[in-house]
Amino acid sequence: MSAVPDLEPLVLDGVVGHPEEFAARYRRDGLWIDRTFSEMLFDTVERVPDDVAVIAGDTELTYAELGEQVLRLAAGFRARGIGRGDRVVVQLPNVAAYIPLVFALFELGAVPVLALAAHERNEIAQFVDLAEAVAYLTVESHDGSDLAGLAAGIAASSPTVAHTVVLDRAGGGPELDALLAHEPLRHERRSLPSDVAFLQLSGGTTGTSKLIPHTHEGYLGSMVQASRVGGITADTVQLVVLPMPHSFAMRSPGYLGALHAGATIVLATDGSPDTVFPLIQRHRVTETALVPPLALAWLNSSLRGEYDLTSLRTVRVGGAKFGAEAAARIGRELGATLQQSYGMAEGLHTFTGLDEDEETITTRQGRPTSDADEILVVDDEDRPVPQGTPGHLLTRGPATVRGYYRTPEHDRTVFTADGFYRVGDLVQQDERGYLTVVGRAKDQINRGGSKIAPEEVENHLLAHPAVHDASVVGVPDDVLGERAKAYLVPREGGDPSALTLAGTRSFLRERGLAGYKLPDLVEVVETFPSTVAGKVSKRAQRTKKD
Ligand code: AMP
Repeated sequence: MSAVPDLEPLVLDGVVGHPEEFAARYRRDGLWIDRTFSEMLFDTVERVPDDVAVIAGDTELTYAELGEQVLRLAAGFRARGIGRGDRVVVQLPNVAAYIPLVFALFELGAVPVLALAAHERNEIAQFVDLAEAVAYLTVESHDGSDLAGLAAGIAASSPTVAHTVVLDRAGGGPELDALLAHEPLRHERRSLPSDVAFLQLSGGTTGTSKLIPHTHEGYLGSMVQASRVGGITADTVQLVVLPMPHSFAMRSPGYLGALHAGATIVLATDGSPDTVFPLIQRHRVTETALVPPLALAWLNSSLRGEYDLTSLRTVRVGGAKFGAEAAARIGRELGATLQQSYGMAEGLHTFTGLDEDEETITTRQGRPTSDADEILVVDDEDRPVPQGTPGHLLTRGPATVRGYYRTPEHDRTVFTADGFYRVGDLVQQDERGYLTVVGRAKDQINRGGSKIAPEEVENHLLAHPAVHDASVVGVPDDVLGERAKAYLVPREGGDPSALTLAGTRSFLRERGLAGYKLPDLVEVVETFPSTVAGKVSKRAQRTKKD
C-alpha cells in the first residue's frame, strides 16, 4: 500500500465527532485503530491470500480473490464517478457479492448507507433523500418486492441519484459482471481512519430510522475489542444469518471480526434450521450470532438430530432479551458456549465472557468490552441509582457516536450535554459491571430483534381514510418477545370494515412500508385509555387482555 501524504480529513456536514481530548485518548489507548476498513481487509489479504474468506451457496472466494473483486468493483464504481465522501444506498440480502461491493465503496472512501433487504420504497426514499445519495445498489427483487422498479423510480425522481446498480435476485447478473470487468485499481489509502466509513441505521423511536455516522477507526476499534472477547481466530468458521447491515452481524464481532482475523465467513440468507443446519455440517461452522427467536427455532427443531452440529463452539445471542430458561439450553442441547450480547447500532456493545459461570451467562447480557465505555444507570431525573437498582442506561465511549447524521434537534433529546447517549433501555448493573436488561423506556417495539418505531407506523395509519386515531404498541409474544398491535379509532363517516388486519396491512404495504413493521394484530376501539396527564396510555394498551 502506498500512502497518499496530502489526504485531508473528509468533511461531511451534519456529522458530530468526538471532542478532540476524547479522540486523542481513544487513539492513544488503542481503542481506535489507525486503519481504514479497506486497509484492514488488505492486511488480511496479504497475510492469508489462499485461505477461504467467503462461502455463499456455490460461491467460494479466497482472500486473494476477494481482494481482486474489491479492486475491480472499485474501478467500476470509480468509472461511474463515485468517489470519496459520496453516499451510496446499498440494499442487499446476504449474497456473495455483498462484501466485495461494500468494500469496493470503502476502498474509494465512498460512504455506504447500509439498508436492510426488507426495507421498502418508503424507507429507501428517505435514506436517499437524507443522505443525498449519488447511487442506489440493490437486487431486482427480494421477498416479493420489486426493487428493480424501486430503483427505476428513484433514478427518475431523485435529484441526486445518478446511478443505480441492480443485481439479479441471487446477487449476480450482468450489472455485476460489467463492474467486475474493469481492470483492478491499485489498493491505496483513499480515505483516512478518522473519516466516516458508512452510515448505519438506528432502530428508530421517532419517525423513521436515523443514520449513524461511524468512522473507520472507531468502528474497527469496537470490532477488535469484540473479537477479543468473542475468541475469533483464523480458524473460526463464522455463519452469518442475521441481515449483514445489523451491527450485531457486522462488528460484534461479526463479519468484520472474521475478515480481520482471516477467518472464513459462511453466508446464509435466512437462519431457519433447514437452511443452516446443512451448512453447519458441511462447512464445520464454529460460531454464529442469533436473535432469540432463531435460537429458539434451532433449539426446538426436529432436524437437530439429523445433522452433525458438533463443530459449533460459540452461539452468540442478542438483539432482544434472551430468557434464562432458553439460555440454559444452548450449552446443554447444542453443546456450544452461549455468549450473550447486548448492544445498539449507536455503539456500545456488551458480552458475557466465554469462560464465565453458568449463572452469569444465562442471566446477564454482558459487560462492556473496555473500561473506556462509560456506563451510567440513572433515575428519571438523571441521578445515578445505587448499584443493582434498575435505571435508565446512559453511555459514552470509544464505540458510541456523539450524534446522528443531520438530525441536530433529535440529538438534543437523546444525547446529554456532556455527550452521553440516552439508550432508552432500563438496566441494572452488578458489582462486576455486568448488565441485565430489565425493560425499555423508549417508545420502540422489539419484534424478535427487529425494531419498529410506533410513531412511524401510526403516521401512516393516520393517512387511512377510515382512521381517526391510531396507536401502535408491542404486546407480549412467547417466541418473538413482542408483536406489534395497532389500536384504531374509526373516523366518523369512514368505512370501518376496511380496518381488518389484512386491510390495514395491505394499506401500509401500498404506502411502501417494510413488511416487518406491519402490525400483527389490529383492534378497532372507540377511544384510547389515557394516563392521568391525558396522554394515550400505551402501558394500558400493552397489557390489555383480548
Ligand atoms: P439495534 O440498534 O437495532 O441493535 O437495537 C438496539 C436495542 O435492541 C437496544 O437498545 C435494546 O433495546 C435491544 N437489545 C439489543 N440487545 C439486547 C439484549 N441482549 N437484551 C435485551 N435487549 C436488547
